[in-house]
Amino acid sequence: MNDIPAIGSPIRTRAILNEYDLHASKRLGQNFLIDLNVLQEIVQGAAIGPDDTVIEIGPGIGSLTEQLAKAAKQVVAYEIDKKLIPILSETLRPYKNVKIVNRDILKADFSIFAKNQSLKIVANLPYYITTPILFYLLNSSLNFKSVTVMMQKEVAARLQAGVGSKDYGELSLAIQYRVNVEIILPVTRKSFMPSPNVDSAVVQLTPKENFQSFPHEEALFKIIKASFAHRRKSLVNNLLYYFGKNDENRTKIERSISETGFDLNIRGERLTLENYEQLVNNLSENMIFSKE
Ligand code: SAM
Repeated sequence: MNDIPAIGSPIRTRAILNEYDLHASKRLGQNFLIDLNVLQEIVQGAAIGPDDTVIEIGPGIGSLTEQLAKAAKQVVAYEIDKKLIPILSETLRPYKNVKIVNRDILKADFSIFAKNQSLKIVANLPYYITTPILFYLLNSSLNFKSVTVMMQKEVAARLQAGVGSKDYGELSLAIQYRVNVEIILPVTRKSFMPSPNVDSAVVQLTPKENFQSFPHEEALFKIIKASFAHRRKSLVNNLLYYFGKNDENRTKIERSISETGFDLNIRGERLTLENYEQLVNNLSENMIFSKE
């Protein structure tokens, strides 16, 4: 067994694709990792150890799963493509601590995972549903220690961006509300087979310590969305579009922005998450939401 090259080596990946006459599905975002250094850096970056249960999304032909299985207590991998299931049971046969679930991750039932186990999520994500997957995980009952996932470089930049960056926006705020974000590894398109048209990055999300949900959470995200709707317009104008353009709304919006400590020409991209929370508190005190 030790003589067989790793699944994620280019030679073995090619052999598996040939043996099963497998054509990577573009529609399902199938780009297999063929760079052993990257695979090992993901496992190290996620600090996978013998106490960890790993949830993997989209094992493909098992390249990352194999490296995870060597380090973790167990790996539960969700793969939507039923063509891959018999291939995975063959490639991962030596690893008794791997369980493959043939299921859409967006329909996964995570109640099987005990609250007290050390749970880490690791994936080379299917890029066409990167953000739905992240929100599905964040909104689930999973008590994870970290989420370490490969995604398109541009999406990684938006997740990590802060005030002042061109990438800063609704997605940055929605994710940073819940978790800390760190880009841990840039990855070029050459590390995949077939090679995608974009470069990638591995991002790590960790739960915020002492996270408490904001009392007007729904309003907060509506206001953030509205504030970035027209990036070149001022915050006042974006909020007027949202609440309806009339003098009464203008007065309330301007008062709330001033009371939050900002100039009336300010644009939404200048406000931090804390600023948005203050603004929404103020808007609700000024009773603008009563019309919603
Ligand atoms: N982990 C493998 C690797 O690194 O080589 C494959 C990664 S590939 C980028 C993404 C994988 O996600 C594919 O195997 C694809 O079939 C699977 N996938 C796509 N949509 C999915 C979904 N909704 N739920 C679960 N798996 C999905």
